[in-house]
Amino acid sequence: AEEDADPEEKARRALVAQYRGIWVFVEQTDGEAARVSWELLGKGAELATKLGVELCAVVLGDRVEHLCQEAMYYGAHKVYLVDQPVLLHYRTYPYLDALCHLIEKYRPEVVLMGATGLGRDLAGAVATRVGTGLTADCTGLDIDENRNLMQTRPAFGGNIMATIMCDRFRPQMATVRAHVMTLPERRPIASGSIVHETLPINEALVFTKVLEVIRENRGNQVDIAGAEFIVSGGRGMMSKENFGILQELADELGGVVAASRSAVDAGWMPAERQVGQTGKTVRPKIYLACGISGAIQHLVGMQDSDLVIAINRDPQAPIFEVAGYGIVGDLFKVVPAITSYLREL
Ligand code: FAD
Repeated sequence: AEEDADPEEKARRALVAQYRGIWVFVEQTDGEAARVSWELLGKGAELATKLGVELCAVVLGDRVEHLCQEAMYYGAHKVYLVDQPVLLHYRTYPYLDALCHLIEKYRPEVVLMGATGLGRDLAGAVATRVGTGLTADCTGLDIDENRNLMQTRPAFGGNIMATIMCDRFRPQMATVRAHVMTLPERRPIASGSIVHETLPINEALVFTKVLEVIRENRGNQVDIAGAEFIVSGGRGMMSKENFGILQELADELGGVVAASRSAVDAGWMPAERQVGQTGKTVRPKIYLACGISGAIQHLVGMQDSDLVIAINRDPQAPIFEVAGYGIVGDLFKVVPAITSYLREL
């Protein structure tokens, strides 16, 4: 087949052959890694096995060497480390320079990042500079028979799932949201190698300065993304006050209250509690959906929960298709009944 290939195809194959390995960018703030980075190492290990290549992590920052060990605990065979004062706080340009330098030198075939604020900023800038493609917010990653990364994500407002490939350019780049991939088990021992790189960049070459860091006051904000039990309400809740019955049930379960976009748009719940395509992705042990129809944009954010229980008065509601248990009925009767049953236990 090699002799028959047209010149364009030959050139493509020659380019692709120069790139090897799966890279995961380890996002950190103040030396603490974002959980999504470890989730990506779990997925990356699977892809690396299919390709028969190394799984590598990339750590950028100032005094962040401890994260190299941590990346090995989560499965990295090799860690590229750039540890310089200029990388203390995230700024696009020094991080962009550092990551592009590593990519150009070591040529990975896949680069994965979390679809966080930082990851979205950096991934787009890197893809543009190295001249490759980027698929944002992937929900699935796999390898095809030609070593291409198949990147699946919702498209057209979530009405279809599109599988996107970047077969002519390398590296293949994707961002993935937190909680979409499973967190791998932390291995008992960390083994692997660290490749230290020093870059010719310093403050004089960076146009932005961080003058002060003001921490967001998260007060009593709740992080639904890490919750084990979620009681979620939709338009069927009818009012903000009615969410009180969900809070009572959540308190009994030791869980948190979340919402569909309709409920958030109505002002019944704050935006950080929204589950779905434009909200958060959650993976609790139990997701109890109350008065939520199950639109695809909602499902993509919660369908990987261990168990979905749906309460809806419409037996045709699509939420029942992803539910392990379904209760067809009036949530205003069913929810308080479950709460009082749990209180009596
Ligand atoms: P509805 O679809 O109106 O469903 C209400 C349900 O409550 C119905 O099934 C009804 O039978 C039931 N019900 C009513 N009263 C009772 C009762 N007393 N007892 C029991 N059941 C009752 N949506 C999200 O959730 N998250 C997203 O991130 C998101 N992103 C989007 C992004 C885009 C680009 C677009 C186009 C849409 C997005 N949406 C998102 C909106 C989504 O399409 C749906 O409109 C939304 O999820 C519907 O919310 P809902 O299920 O609460 O309301």
